[in-house]
Amino acid sequence: MSDEQELEKLAKQIMVCTQCELHRSRKKAVPGEGPTQAEIMFVGEGPGFHENEQGRPFVGAAGKFLDQLLEQAGVTRADVWITNVVKCRPPGNRDPLPDEVEICTSNYLQHQIRIVNPSIIVTLGRFSMSLFFKGAKITQIHGQMRKVADRFVIAMYHPAAALHQISLKPAIMADFAKLPELLKQARAGLGKSTGKEPKKEEDNPKQMNLF
Ligand code: URA
Repeated sequence: MSDEQELEKLAKQIMVCTQCELHRSRKKAVPGEGPTQAEIMFVGEGPGFHENEQGRPFVGAAGKFLDQLLEQAGVTRADVWITNVVKCRPPGNRDPLPDEVEICTSNYLQHQIRIVNPSIIVTLGRFSMSLFFKGAKITQIHGQMRKVADRFVIAMYHPAAALHQISLKPAIMADFAKLPELLKQARAGLGKSTGKEPKKEEDNPKQMNLF
């Protein structure tokens, strides 16, 4: 099965998933989207109102701000993979519960990461950050790139947080502005020249322990 087909298969499973309570109130699940060869993957928290209506990630106000931040970094949506920790909207935008995070990440996010195999994962928000940096404080680590297993991870403020708390805006803008330089560093650190190298056969076996 090609990477595209594998991602498509996962998306179909996500759309009909009933493994946690979040499926009860969802209108549309939001598997995520982007090119299979994306070098950067953004992982938000979970779908909000507009995402639940449309089945696509980051299409509301936070998404519009994310588009601006990407543009400022010289990147477009078409270049990156965008998804969330949980694929169905938590009712009333409540925080996802630990078992919802566990079920959704072990069944879906981990596989999406393995298949897309990005050089950099950018976490947006604390649930996404804590998958990679348990107990970390966003105020202390935002914008810093760290190697986690086979790739680099950068924790950034959630765009919605910067919209609600205007004092965070300069920090999130500065962090996004560093992305092109951090991508160069990540490529060098992973031994890639420019762009994404094809996956080696031995990269393909199912590995579950990605975080
Ligand atoms: N906030 C998120 O974390 N994800 C979305 O897809 C939209 C808003």
